[in-house]
Amino acid sequence: MFDLKTRVLVVDDMSTMRKIVSKSLKNIGFTDIIDAADGVQAFTALQSSEIPVGLIVSDWNMPNCTGLEFLKRVRASNYKDVAFVLLTAESEIEQVKEAVAAGVDNYIVKPFTPAVLQQKLEETHKRRTAA
Ligand SMILES: [Mg+2]
Repeated sequence: MFDLKTRVLVVDDMSTMRKIVSKSLKNIGFTDIIDAADGVQAFTALQSSEIPVGLIVSDWNMPNCTGLEFLKRVRASNYKDVAFVLLTAESEIEQVKEAVAAGVDNYIVKPFTPAVLQQKLEETHKRRTAA
């Protein structure tokens, strides 16, 4: 599993969703969680974070800069190695291939339970360390 001290960046345009995801991460044991409302703000947060972000959990469907656009921007930047997990709606599953091609580490279909979030993060970490 990721070091629970890892700084996690939660990105979602809905504040309730940001709270739900952050709370689930806290329940898993993560202690350093920051958030942003879209990909533009999230990229700024990545750049201005004094402690490097080690994990991004981002919504797909957001105004200004979607999760996919944000992912592409991250993978083309100095932050290209940051673990990136996308949150998608059932209807967006077909588009997941595009995210995989763009280098996403994993994706979670909404709505999800904290247990699923934990399992997906464990899987993501395992894949990264096995690679
Ligand atoms: Mg959204």
